[in-house]
Amino acid sequence: MKELAHAARGRAWAFIVLASVCVTLVDPVLSERVLADSAAESAPPDVSQVDALPASVAEVERTLSILHDKFRGHDDGAVASHNDVAAAADPNAFGIAIATVDGRVISVGDSKLTFPLQSLSKPFLFGLALKDNGIEAMLRKVGVYATGFPYGSLTAMEVRATKLQNPMVSAGAIAVTSTIAGSNIEEKRARTLHFLQAFAGRDVEPIREVYDAEMASNNGSLARAWVLSHYDLLYAEPYAAVDHYLHACSVGVTAEDLAIMGATLANGGVNPKTKERVVSAEIARSQLSAMVTAGMYDHSGPWLLRVGLPAKSGVSGGVFAIVPNGFAIAVYSPRLDTYGNSVRAFEVIKDLSERWKLHLLAVAPSQ
Ligand code: GLN
Repeated sequence: MKELAHAARGRAWAFIVLASVCVTLVDPVLSERVLADSAAESAPPDVSQVDALPASVAEVERTLSILHDKFRGHDDGAVASHNDVAAAADPNAFGIAIATVDGRVISVGDSKLTFPLQSLSKPFLFGLALKDNGIEAMLRKVGVYATGFPYGSLTAMEVRATKLQNPMVSAGAIAVTSTIAGSNIEEKRARTLHFLQAFAGRDVEPIREVYDAEMASNNGSLARAWVLSHYDLLYAEPYAAVDHYLHACSVGVTAEDLAIMGATLANGGVNPKTKERVVSAEIARSQLSAMVTAGMYDHSGPWLLRVGLPAKSGVSGGVFAIVPNGFAIAVYSPRLDTYGNSVRAFEVIKDLSERWKLHLLAVAPSQ
């Protein structure tokens, strides 16, 4: 029904536009009146009245349950093992949440279980850095180059003459974090936490034991920070930049929080729960663009082809994907594939994208 209504509205608009264009060609005076009349009779759809979801809430709940049942038995992949705290995650935990741009949250399974953001913090670190420095400076200081290498690659830091990075992989995210304003590490951490809280619409906090474990196993991050520093691409002292970055990675969220953070991006930077404008529409768009380029690391190409949505993963097992102007979907399931992305999250979001025809580059069939 809804599809039909959308199609009918689309056809009505196409007809009005076509009619107006034809009249314009014939008689410019008349055309003005026709345009004014048609606008009065049939005002453009009020976006607040266009449903953010492609189905009713009951249908969405049913679909999420179907997907949860369908994939809960899939146990491919392995939980992260870079430190004991990461390795202790429950491999069977599985939650799915959707948050819409009009503030609804629909979820199933372990959607209220807390897990660390890890690399899911990267789009938000980039957002704050964009707010502090502007887009031009970030393109100059860090770049948005799809590396095609695994998230922690040192090779990716050597291949390009400019040595510029991507904000969605480890080295780029550390560089991004080092540009965030603040007179000392405490102030930088506090500003970052406040920014993440504004996206989540509640006071999410770092998980102390995650932060301690990340700091005790931070040689990879430090190595990347020193290489960046060697190339004059780090804008803070290496240890402080890594500390600031891993502090953001340690912030605990639920799948529902992550969906709301994503819905804030889907909503052009306004949190649908608190109604706060967290970032400008231009910054939200830039965050989403960076997610398309490398949000799923070296699996971003196949992801775009199969799913067609900007997305980001974290080593904790969370993934979120964004349908601009509609909603965000977040999945938590800690078993990872060889790219470091949650296996079930890929399955769930790909299935949903196919069911609801969410691929952003799909062209609607002509009528
Ligand atoms: N703490 C991680 C890091 O070393 C985050 C990694 C990830 O989530 N892929 O950068």
